[in-house]
Formats: sequence, C-alpha cells, structure tokens
Amino acid sequence: METQFKTGLMLDLQRQKDKDLGDRSTYIGASDVGQCPRKAVLQKQEEISLSVEQMIIFKRGHLAEEIVAAGFSAYNPERQHEISFKTENGTPIKVHIDFLFGKEAVMEVKSTDSIPDVPYSSWELQIQLQMGALKFIENRQNVRGRIFVLNVNTGEQKIFPVEFDEAMYNIALKKADKIWAMHMGEMDMEMSVSPICGYCPFLKTCPQFVDDVVEAPELEEEAESIFNLEKQIKKLNSEVKSKKSSIKKLETPKIKAGNFFIEVQSRNRTNTDVKKICEDYGVKDLSPYQSTTSFEVMSIKEVKK
Ligand code: SF4
Repeated sequence: METQFKTGLMLDLQRQKDKDLGDRSTYIGASDVGQCPRKAVLQKQEEISLSVEQMIIFKRGHLAEEIVAAGFSAYNPERQHEISFKTENGTPIKVHIDFLFGKEAVMEVKSTDSIPDVPYSSWELQIQLQMGALKFIENRQNVRGRIFVLNVNTGEQKIFPVEFDEAMYNIALKKADKIWAMHMGEMDMEMSVSPICGYCPFLKTCPQFVDDVVEAPELEEEAESIFNLEKQIKKLNSEVKSKKSSIKKLETPKIKAGNFFIEVQSRNRTNTDVKKICEDYGVKDLSPYQSTTSFEVMSIKEVKK
C-alpha cells in the first residue's frame, strides 16, 4: 500500500512538473534566482529521490495555488503565464507567472508554515524577474505584483504588495547569468546558506557543511531570533508564575473575574522512591533495569566579543 501511494504521488508530481515547467535543465526559471545557486543547478542536473513527506510538502504548494484560484475565480486570472527570453549574455530565461490578472498584475503564491512580517528577499527577486519580463519583454505598462502567502494547515494568509524595482530586476538577471554559467560548467559552484538548508536535497554533499564548525553568517539573523524568543519564553514563564502566585495568595478556589473564571485545584502526583525499593529488595545494580535513549538538544548561546 505504502509503495503504491509513494509511486502515485511521484507520478502525479512529475506530470504536474512536466505540464507546468517542462525541462528545467534548458533554462533558468524565476524560482531559480530566488534560491541557493548550487541547489538551483543540481536540481537541473541530478535526479532527486524525494521522501513521501517531501512530496506531500510539494503537493501542499499546489493545493495553496488551487485555494487561491478558487478565491479569485470571479476575476478569471490567467494561470502559469509563460514568458521566454534571453539575457544580454545569452542565458535562456523562462518565467511562469502563477496568476496574471488582466495584462499587468502578477501574483505569486507561496505556501509556508509561518508567515513572515515582510516577504523574503528570495520571493522578491523571483517576482521582480516575472514583473520585469512582463514589462520589458511583453511591453506591458503599469506592471505590479502581489505575493500571496498561505498556511494551508491553519488557513492563515497574507498578501504582500510588491512594486516593480528595476535595480532588483537587474540583480535577478545577473544571478540568472551566474547560475547558467555554473550549470554550463563555466564557473565554480557558489552556495548561499539559509535557514532552509535543512530541507535541501543536496545538503549531505554540500561543501558548506563538511567541517565540524561551519561558518554561516547568513544564519545569524535566524539564530538571534530563536535566541531572543527563548529569552522571551523564560521571561514570560516567570511572569506567569509570579502573577499566578499572587492570585493563589487570595486562598479562594473559584473566582469569577469579568470574562474569566479562575479555579485553583489540588492534584496529586505519585513519586516512586527507587532508592528505598533497592534497599528493601536488596538490589545493588540497577543497570539491568535501565535503558538509554538518545535525543538531540539545540542550544544557542551568544558569542561574547
Ligand atoms: S545545503 Fe544550503 S548551501 Fe548547500 S546547496 Fe543546499 S541550499 Fe545551498
């Protein structure tokens, strides 16, 4: 059953990919410029074997698009609008616009677990390449963009408006040239470490991650954010504890406080005195009764300068 499920998913994804994107090794797509160059190149050159979980994540992306399509069906946007052209250096580019409203409004759909406050620069670069292609290759005026971010698990969504920015469009073109040169073997592979390296299918062979201690300044922002969140959790926990203890001091088991109901209940916890059992039953060595399981702990500490 599991094998059939996996094969079915694999065929479905391949069909969808062929239909939407064709042979990606023959051009640079908008999503390529928004990601790590090494990953973009290897995706074109190597067969990737995806786990069922990874395939479901891909399907979630398609599901997000279908939800957005249903929501905007009254506008009848064009789906997967394709534009092909070459950069000044001859790099073949093919962009696929998720939704095109009228002739000038681009919408890119992203499915994610946590919606950021501002769009990631990789998303921006991707949509700038799409908008630039529309403006300069198809001569559309007044080009504008939206990034629709959707969490399909919680239903949370957010739309980020994006203005066309010619400087960013040129950066995207340069990046496309670079990725193509790497793909053609004319340039050494470049990598860009990011918080999503953990999901990269080429992580195990990535030169960035072969040493014991990897220098990855690109992850500083993410590490700082987790560090600060953990600090906040500790502070909030101690705040909650102290506030609860003030209420407990009232020694009133049930309190109606406006819209809130506070109840203090007594509960029991049973502890086992292992030391006493050993003494009473003459057990000198506990190791035959013990087993060890390993688990991982991530700690983030601030490096003092
Ligand atoms: S692990 Fe990260 S840096 Fe290495 S190829 Fe993958 S995305 Fe790029």
